[in-house]
Amino acid sequence: MKQLPRIGDHMDAVVPTLSPETRIMRAVDFLLRHRVTGAPVVDSDGRLLGIITETDLLKLVTEGIQAQPPTEATVAEYMTTDVVTVPPTVDIYYVAGIFLKNKIRRLPVVEDGHTLTWMLRPAYSFADTQQRDIYQFEQRLVQLVESSEYLSMRTLGIVKYDTFSSPIWLVTFEGDAVKKKKVFISGGVHGDEPAGPEAVLATIIEAANDPSKYEHVNIDFVPLVNPSGWVNGTRLNGADEDINRGFHLLNSQEAIIINDYLISHNRYKLMIDHHEDPRYPGFYMVTYGNNDLSLVSDVT
Ligand SMILES: [Zn+2]
Repeated sequence: MKQLPRIGDHMDAVVPTLSPETRIMRAVDFLLRHRVTGAPVVDSDGRLLGIITETDLLKLVTEGIQAQPPTEATVAEYMTTDVVTVPPTVDIYYVAGIFLKNKIRRLPVVEDGHTLTWMLRPAYSFADTQQRDIYQFEQRLVQLVESSEYLSMRTLGIVKYDTFSSPIWLVTFEGDAVKKKKVFISGGVHGDEPAGPEAVLATIIEAANDPSKYEHVNIDFVPLVNPSGWVNGTRLNGADEDINRGFHLLNSQEAIIINDYLISHNRYKLMIDHHEDPRYPGFYMVTYGNNDLSLVSDVT
């Protein structure tokens, strides 16, 4: 099985670095000239001492309102020294986890104290509904599927609204065992519950990393049931329909697309649809109260 992509495989060319003794006004010039928003600060041996960013330099501007810019000041006085770093051997999903947990934009990649490069936080955040990007989401799926021979991916259909269209993807995990049970896992029915798609992605990552753990199942994942709601941070789809409530009525594009796939396949032993409820910590389960057994072979 192929390994998940390591950041060492995704590193950019060496990033421009600054020395701690550099005068601060020269550092401003340096960032502008290199068209970067920050730089690692390293000693003469290339060891990482800190980072300096536009935000650090804004302090300079505010100080300059009261007085002349501190032309004698050096990078060392303005840099941030409390820096999270990673080695080049970690995989890119680990890096994504660090960006999700920390309010940082840059992650220096350090080996033996030496800065090799740094990873920039992607220009979107899942906490920020303004910037959820369907293409980026698809790229995450594509990278995962390419990392594992047990995963495959296809488009079930395209959701279309006036100013928006997006595929609904199916990612399938195929276990090794001869007798396998079929499981269906989805998320993102409600666009304002982004933890659902993330939970589905986390399960796909786990299956890719440790396929033996899931060898007795085939899993059909639909990580993003309501792409337009997810992009806009709205519970409802682009036609103001609650896909969840109307799933059995098939009165939404999304429900029709997914149902067309479901009815043409074997019934599942287990179906899980992830939701998110900010009112409660931890998790709870809501069991399916509908007696229609057409999709699930056992309801217990
Ligand atoms: Zn929900």
